[in-house]
Amino acid sequence: MDRSNPRERVAAHHREGEGVVRVPYPIGFRTTTVLRTECVTPNIIRVTVGGPGLDGFHSYQADDHVRIVFPDPDGTLRHPVPNEEQMLDWPKPFPTTRKYTVRRYDAAAREMDIDAVVHEGGVGSAWASSVAVGDMVAVAGPPGAKSFPHNYGHYVFAVDTTALPAAARWLEESPSDVSAHVVIETDDAADHAYPLASREGVSVTWLVRSDARSSLAETVQGLELPDTRTFLFAAGESDDIKPLRAWSKGRLDSLFTGYWKRGVADLED
Ligand SMILES: Cc1cc2nc3c(=O)[nH]c(=O)nc-3n(C[C@H](O)[C@H](O)[C@H](O)COP(=O)(O)OP(=O)(O)OC[C@H]3O[C@@H](n4cnc5c(N)ncnc54)[C@H](O)[C@@H]3O)c2cc1C
Repeated sequence: MDRSNPRERVAAHHREGEGVVRVPYPIGFRTTTVLRTECVTPNIIRVTVGGPGLDGFHSYQADDHVRIVFPDPDGTLRHPVPNEEQMLDWPKPFPTTRKYTVRRYDAAAREMDIDAVVHEGGVGSAWASSVAVGDMVAVAGPPGAKSFPHNYGHYVFAVDTTALPAAARWLEESPSDVSAHVVIETDDAADHAYPLASREGVSVTWLVRSDARSSLAETVQGLELPDTRTFLFAAGESDDIKPLRAWSKGRLDSLFTGYWKRGVADLED
C-alpha cells in the first residue's frame, strides 16, 4: 500500500478529484502530554495535547481521526509499535482504544485539539471528563484520509455532536467561496454554542434529538439543494444517518461514517 506523500495526494484530490478516495498515511504512535482542557460547551470537552511527542504528526483531511490508546485496568499501557510498512503492530488482545477527530493540529506550536463528547458510560467519555494537565495521552494514527474534494459546488453536512469537530474543521479549511448546508443534531440545545466559523453561503441548522428520536435525516431530505454538483458528508449515530444512504444514492456523491451506535461500545466503522 502506497503511504508516500499523503499531503500532496490529499491536496491533489481536494483540487481536482471526484468522489471519495482513500489516501493511506504512514501511521505513527506517540505519547503526548495534556497541555490544557476546556469545556467548549456543557457536553464537549476540548483536550489539547502537545509536547515533543507530537513532532512528525500529520493530518490533511478535516475528518482525520486518531485512536486514543488507554492503559489496562492495572495501569499497563500495551501500545502498538510502528513497523517497516509504516503501519502499526498492535498487541494482542487489542488494547482499549477510542477514535477522536483531529479538531486542530498546529505543528509549530506542537499542539493538537480533540473535542470529546461526554455522555453516560464509556471509557472515552470518562477520560475526557477527568483528564488533567500533565497527564500522558497515547495517540495512534491518523491512519489515512477518506478524502473528498473541495471542488463541488455545494456541500451538505449531516452530523451529530460527535462529528461536529469534523464539520467545524472543514468550515475552516475548505475554500471560502464554496457553499454548504450544515445540519447538526445534538442531545442538548446548550451544545449549539459550539463555535463555528461563519462563512457567506453556509447555512447552519441546529436540531435537538428528543428522547433519542432523530430528525436529522428528514431535515436533510427537506433541504432545498442548489442545482449544482453536491457532496454529502454524513457522520454520527449510525442509525440516525442510515435513511440518508438510500435518499442520496444516485443523487449525491457522499461519505457516510457511523461514529457510534446506541447501546454498542466502541463501534467499529
Ligand atoms: C472517525 C471517527 C471520528 C470520531 N470523532 C469523534 C470526536 O471528535 N468527538 C467525539 O466525541 N466522538 C468522536 N467519535 C465517536 C466516538 O469514537 C464514540 O462516540 C465512542 O463510542 C466514544 O467512546 P466512549 O468510550 O465514550 O463510549 P463507548 O464505550 O464506546 O460506549 C458506551 C456507551 O455509550 C454510548 N455512546 C457512545 N458515544 C456516545 C455519544 N456521543 N453520545 C451518547 N452515547 C454514546 C454507546 O452507544 C454505548 O452504549 C468518532 C468516531 C469515529 C469512527
